[in-house]
Amino acid sequence: MENLSDIKVIKKILSSFGFKFSKSLGQNFIVDSSVCPKMAENSTENKNSGVIEIGPGIGVLTIELAKRFKKVVSVEIDKRLIPILKKTTAEFENVKIINSDILKTDLKKLIETEFKDFDEINVCANLPYYITSEVIMYILENQEIKVNSLVLMIQKEAAERICAQPGSRQSGAISLAVRYYGEPKILFSVNRECFIPMPNVDSCVIKINLKKSNSKIIKDKTRFFKVVKAAFSQRRKNIVNSLGSGLGKSKDEIKNILNSAGINPNFRAEQLTFEDFSKIVDLL
Ligand code: SAM
Repeated sequence: MENLSDIKVIKKILSSFGFKFSKSLGQNFIVDSSVCPKMAENSTENKNSGVIEIGPGIGVLTIELAKRFKKVVSVEIDKRLIPILKKTTAEFENVKIINSDILKTDLKKLIETEFKDFDEINVCANLPYYITSEVIMYILENQEIKVNSLVLMIQKEAAERICAQPGSRQSGAISLAVRYYGEPKILFSVNRECFIPMPNVDSCVIKINLKKSNSKIIKDKTRFFKVVKAAFSQRRKNIVNSLGSGLGKSKDEIKNILNSAGINPNFRAEQLTFEDFSKIVDLL
């Protein structure tokens, strides 16, 4: 089997298929031999489980997943990569390649057909940067599917934001949204030089362990997401102003709610903890 993280091998394969990288599809392929085994290792908890990979490229991570999971289903949007993937993953009978946009893929149907008797499904991907948050929320918000964990390579700044503790300077709406569904953590960082073509940013691999049941302290999910969105829509304003305009309520009304919740109205959204948001939702 050829080493798919060897830059010479990648160039040879791509030129034999006349393939040119597409910037708009976020195509930066891994050229470091340690990254994909480490990602796959961190993704597997049970050898009998299945994994969905998003954007396999030429299959460098796919084959590491195939060695460790019972079944791998890789969803790749770029149809030019399909014949390449068929060739590079040919020796693994447990790999299925699907040519589709992950954001238009019916994940419930995919799981029902491809992972019928599996009791555990994970997601592992070196994500294209342009759809990082959309893909994460697409999977987390889908109530009809149950995945155990997501191991994702994403831009370093996005990783820091997603994994930031609510209440810390780096937190944002995405940090709270992800924490509603699971526990995110940074596993390791990956230098930009580990990719071809080299991107302008560094990356991190994160893991989100999904909660067995969604947050118990948040009673009204729709309202929780509405409050988070309103609070962070005007990050620079204090919470009394951002919530007032975002929720269409008077300053006095919001002040009363914040006082009852014991939250300083002059705080900004990033200073509020998960529990603070929960109290606001209850009091609204
Ligand atoms: N997994 C490979 C690797 O690590 O070298 C490639 C990763 S590259 C950063 C992202 C991959 O996602 C590309 O192969 C790209 O074509 C694919 N992709 C981009 N948008 C996609 C989408 N909406 N659905 C599925 N795949 C997508």
